[in-house]
Amino acid sequence: MSEQIPIHKGLFTWPSSRPQLLGSRCKQCGETAFPAQVDCRSCSGRDTEVVELGDRGTLWTWTIQTFMPKQPYHSDETEASFRPYGVGYVEMPGGVRVEARLEPSTREQLAIGMPMQLNIVPFRTDASGNQIMTFSFSAVEEDQAWK
Ligand SMILES: [Zn+2]
Repeated sequence: MSEQIPIHKGLFTWPSSRPQLLGSRCKQCGETAFPAQVDCRSCSGRDTEVVELGDRGTLWTWTIQTFMPKQPYHSDETEASFRPYGVGYVEMPGGVRVEARLEPSTREQLAIGMPMQLNIVPFRTDASGNQIMTFSFSAVEEDQAWK
């Protein structure tokens, strides 16, 4: 039976009805990192803990990817099926910035500072037929923005 498998362990809570991005926090200086780090990049402390970064952030910067990324980026896309998509940094509560693929894919749909929400999406299918899952961010719908 095929399963849905995270692309890397420890990036997000999965499976979950409301997945949260996972990072690390330094117990000495409070620095938050994504992906989770064993050693703090700020103070070189070794006392870090895994924390949930949440599932909402704000768009910090973005661009449009208009050509197929080079390896090792490796999805099921081909030159024929590729469509341009947004890519950018989303700032999570606590200030850590996360590079991610963005669901809105046109310049008209993206704006710095807009609220974004986490999605767990299929990335590719492996040799056993399992769906490899990754994360992306999409615009928060207007009617969900204040919930
Ligand atoms: Zn630290």
